[in-house]
Amino acid sequence: MFVLDAGEAQDILRKQSNSGASLQAGSESEDADLIALVSYAQRLAHVAISGFRVGAVARGESGRIYLGVNVELPGLPLNACVHAEQTLITNLLIHREPSVQAVYISAAPCGHCRQFLSELVCAESMTICFGKDMHAHKLADILPERFGPHSLLEKGQDISLLLQPQHHDVSLMRPIDASSSAQSAVEHIVFAAAADKAIQAARTSYTPYYRCPAAAAIIFTPTTGDSPPEEASGLTHQITASAPQASESLDADSGWVQKQDHEIAAGPCMESAAHNPGMLPLQSAIVAGILTGRLTSFDQIVGAVLVECNDTPVQSAKLEAAPSIHMDASVPPAPLSTPTIPSPIPI
Ligand SMILES: [Zn+2]
Repeated sequence: MFVLDAGEAQDILRKQSNSGASLQAGSESEDADLIALVSYAQRLAHVAISGFRVGAVARGESGRIYLGVNVELPGLPLNACVHAEQTLITNLLIHREPSVQAVYISAAPCGHCRQFLSELVCAESMTICFGKDMHAHKLADILPERFGPHSLLEKGQDISLLLQPQHHDVSLMRPIDASSSAQSAVEHIVFAAAADKAIQAARTSYTPYYRCPAAAAIIFTPTTGDSPPEEASGLTHQITASAPQASESLDADSGWVQKQDHEIAAGPCMESAAHNPGMLPLQSAIVAGILTGRLTSFDQIVGAVLVECNDTPVQSAKLEAAPSIHMDASVPPAPLSTPTIPSPIPI
């Protein structure tokens, strides 16, 4: 659903416009078709808070087409929300796409995303297209004199930029001990599988500045499969439902695994020279789950595993440990002026 080959993209466009549109690499029609897919991507957005849908589309060097959407996470701070460009980058990273030539976005990228895009290995060469006419911009024009990856590094220091292969030689300090856990045997198997997926993802972390590989894996229950979760221009997305009992199937390409009737998706952390625009491990794992097309509601998530190194300057787990005190709301929420946006899909 979020990664398309040319044939799948043609099917979507045909159903969307009923015009038999085709994708021809390198031609002008390619641009038009990728732009047409932006509105398709918008419909896949998870916007339970704002209702404002953003879609992003890019064709990778491999020829595959990647979609990104904004993902809002009700119950978490607003800055935990993931923008469409961040989802797109996560999609590219998880699928080991080496570069893109152009990115098409339904709304002008915010400063945060312009900054994050500057981490890409193809940041200088790619075009970023948005606005009414999908005008093509270079990053240097829309983020002049930027604070980029090399601003933080010593002169001449070479790093592998985002989308270039990363490998961190990390592993669990000790095996997970089933006997010391209150988990049932099945829970232990699922937890151990999630930890394994998280470790695999951590090895691909983008952490050029602080060398703090980390990743998270979410454990979620399968969708029922009875009612398709999405509709896009008349196209219904069928989602395969349950995993077979006591079995495992692994999609090595996407970091997704089924284990003991649970599903697991893992994603690595991604740093940014400007710190904030990166991806936290849990954000990345949730996005990885959504990209499988099998995570359609937040309620499906039953657990998560976060792996990170001891005593590194960046620690993600501590963010979760802050005490919280609840209070009564005395200020009514401001009405949003988005009455024409379709009903949000809960997540
Ligand atoms: Zn943004």
